[in-house]
Amino acid sequence: MTKMMQAAVVTAFGKPLDIQQVPIPTPGPGEILIKTEACGVCHTDLHAANGDWPVKPTPPFIPGHEGIGIVVALGAGVTIVKMGDRVGVPWLYSACGHCEHCLSAWETVCAEAEFGGYTKNGGFAEYIVANPNYVAHIPAGLSPQEAAPLICAGITTYKGLKETEARPGDWVAISGAGGLGHLAIQYAKAMGFKVCAVDIDEGKLAHATRLGADLVVNARDPGAIEAVRSGTGGGAHGVLITAPSIDAFQQGVAMTRKHGTCALVGLPKGEFPVPLFDVVANCVTIRGSFVGTRQDMAEALAFAADGKVRADIELQPLSAINDIFERLEHGKVAARVVIDFTGGAAKAQTSTTQAKQPQPA
Ligand code: NAD
Ligand code: ZN
Ligand code: ZN
Repeated sequence: MTKMMQAAVVTAFGKPLDIQQVPIPTPGPGEILIKTEACGVCHTDLHAANGDWPVKPTPPFIPGHEGIGIVVALGAGVTIVKMGDRVGVPWLYSACGHCEHCLSAWETVCAEAEFGGYTKNGGFAEYIVANPNYVAHIPAGLSPQEAAPLICAGITTYKGLKETEARPGDWVAISGAGGLGHLAIQYAKAMGFKVCAVDIDEGKLAHATRLGADLVVNARDPGAIEAVRSGTGGGAHGVLITAPSIDAFQQGVAMTRKHGTCALVGLPKGEFPVPLFDVVANCVTIRGSFVGTRQDMAEALAFAADGKVRADIELQPLSAINDIFERLEHGKVAARVVIDFTGGAAKAQTSTTQAKQPQPA
């Protein structure tokens, strides 16, 4: 009899995810099977389920690209990972390994790359099939739940900060202090930058201050650009835009210091106008940045293993996925929700429910 697993499936764009029983996949030659312990919920999963981008996944598919778990089966010929290893299945699910981009450590832009939870089924399921050459190796000492956000939100912001080419002591402005941004602030501090956090939500800004931001600015303040420019002595040397909002992009370019770099990471649907004269005359670089390589992954995880970066997580069961999406869409997630497959979220919910019940006198 076919063994089944629970999964959250996108059956059509813009529709709630369907919690279904689907067959546990079998790893083919060169593949591995992972029993999922935890999977973070990224804003990208929302874009995927809504079909927001020009290159679309094909429903039905299982989203989730922050899945962490234990290797429970090896396909023929696999030697690079062992049974029992704890690994993560990231957005960069695989690449060709032979093109000019793969050969120059830019595998993230390989034309044959596959994407976890997008072109390949992802971590909103009890089991995931993965390519052992591209999985993240989770350092001992990190729990699967706290490791989950690092394999997308962590690597993406760490790489994006490197791409700003800011140097220790420089100012970086981080626009969007949510799932990506709360980790970006911590990486930036650990990398020796002065940090200005920008968000539209006062709660997120207060959190940014607790995480070490030196300056916080509300993007909705009409003087926001000037506040960043004056607070950083002429604009941030590096700007990292993680906000899923077109407004943030225009603002971020204007927050960039002369000869600085504005790294674009957020992926809202649409386009934004670039003020050509200012960008040209001030020698500003505007640069896209897309997740990171396997080497970036190892470095990003090492910061966490060394205790310099820690994801703030809220555990939820898979059955809560549509409610999580709803909250994410409206900016109501404090930092990162992680789907817990080990039963911890269900236990946490039960104990909250019990605590709320009237106690006998
Ligand atoms: P999130 O919802 O957890 O966080 C977004 C944050 O942006 C929230 O704190 C929100 O309050 C804030 N925000 C909204 N509008 C703003 C504005 N105008 N100015 C400043 N802040 C604003 O989302 P997330 O998981 O951090 O993902 C953010 C974006 O990054 C998404 O578009 C996602 O697809 C994209 N992303 C890109 C990559 C990449 O490789 N380039 C990787 C992961 C995610
Ligand atoms: Zn992501
Ligand atoms: Zn390639």
